[in-house]
Amino acid sequence: MVAEILCVGTELLMGQVLNTNAQFLSRRLSALGISVYHQTVVGDNEQRLEEAYRQALGRSDIVITSGGLGPTVDDITKRAAARVLGKELVLRPEADRMVRERFLQYHKQMTENNRSQAMFTGDSQVLLNPYGTAPAAIVPAGEGKVIIHLPGPPRELEPLFVEAVEPYLRAYTGSVLVSRYIRIFGMGEAEVDMRLHDLEERGNPTLSPYCSTGEVMLRATAAAADEKEGLELLKPLLVEIRKRLGDVIYEIGEDDSGSLEKTCIDAFMKRHMTVTTAESLTGGLIAATLVEVPGASNVLRGGYVTYQSEAKTMMLGVPSDLIERCGVVSAEVAVSMAEGARKKLDVDMAVSATGVAGPGGGTEECPVGTVFLGIADREKSYAVALHLSGTRERIRTLTVKHALHALIREAEGRAVQNT
Ligand code: AMP
Ligand code: MG
Repeated sequence: MVAEILCVGTELLMGQVLNTNAQFLSRRLSALGISVYHQTVVGDNEQRLEEAYRQALGRSDIVITSGGLGPTVDDITKRAAARVLGKELVLRPEADRMVRERFLQYHKQMTENNRSQAMFTGDSQVLLNPYGTAPAAIVPAGEGKVIIHLPGPPRELEPLFVEAVEPYLRAYTGSVLVSRYIRIFGMGEAEVDMRLHDLEERGNPTLSPYCSTGEVMLRATAAAADEKEGLELLKPLLVEIRKRLGDVIYEIGEDDSGSLEKTCIDAFMKRHMTVTTAESLTGGLIAATLVEVPGASNVLRGGYVTYQSEAKTMMLGVPSDLIERCGVVSAEVAVSMAEGARKKLDVDMAVSATGVAGPGGGTEECPVGTVFLGIADREKSYAVALHLSGTRERIRTLTVKHALHALIREAEGRAVQNT
């Protein structure tokens, strides 16, 4: 099964709007096991759009459009499709009703051309849109192919796709897909690939890697008759991946919403442990990242932003002669920051970070990218040295991820306490 994405809008071609719909749709389709070989962007030009439809229908089973369902003359997506299919657009009462309701709901005046939003080919399956004024539709395009029209605004397209189009596509493809998302920190993409590439070349289940700053994700997907059979197919693959990668895997999740911060909050919550942060180069980013997770308030008691040396001394009690002797970017100061913060807030664990984010400020013995993390709990404390590279932003982002990962490791080293 092959799908292709056709985004309509001159604003996309002019660079005024980032084409997030293409990324969203491609991600969701690939999770459904539907291949995408082409994404196209066409301006609001009927002739070029018709040409794009012909090309897309010639090589794909499913053509998903975004944009151009509005009432204005440049909203040509449906008209061009109808022309290519040799069909007429007619007023569809259920769509007309929806458009009228939406206008009442939004207290907006309806004009005659708003009726065009309710026009579809007679054989279209209209998808009512709870998120905006333009109904969407699934349009039969001959030889079992379909065109699926979706509205342009991402806040409409995204929920509509998940709620109305995905169930349709699942039925259309006729099998269920069961996926597990394996999240890896502390091993580069090349190394992961080297260890797993023979597994990536098997047919079913499929294994596909993708990466973001400092992290590698793998999606393992099995196509099967039902969920149970899918899990049976996945199980030996997951066992094998664990064997080959070991403890760089920090999570195997059922969806792709996992993150270091979620796993971290979860690990502390399970053990009824509290945490604090003492941050220099990250300026509060470690705490802010933890706070993104709902429920963080059960775990994070508070955090310190101690940017200048004086603040490390005044807020955390780091001895000024220690800073002078060892340097502010040192294992000793990182440990002292963590110990100070942990004691002040009387929490189970603290993480600290001090380092050189750049672009200036590096020296020969302490170049840009040198970072020390401190970890302190009620029994012990230690430092971790990191040698990072890249821009200031990347170094700070990676520091946050390493800090979260260090907390996860420390927490997971302990037994889960029963309540
Ligand atoms: P339209 O449905 O063509 O009237 O588009 C309405 C608005 O949706 C546009 O002005 C954009 O802000 C947004 N939009 C349209 N297409 C896309 C796309 N492919 N990705 C992200 N936003 C889009
Ligand atoms: Mg448009």
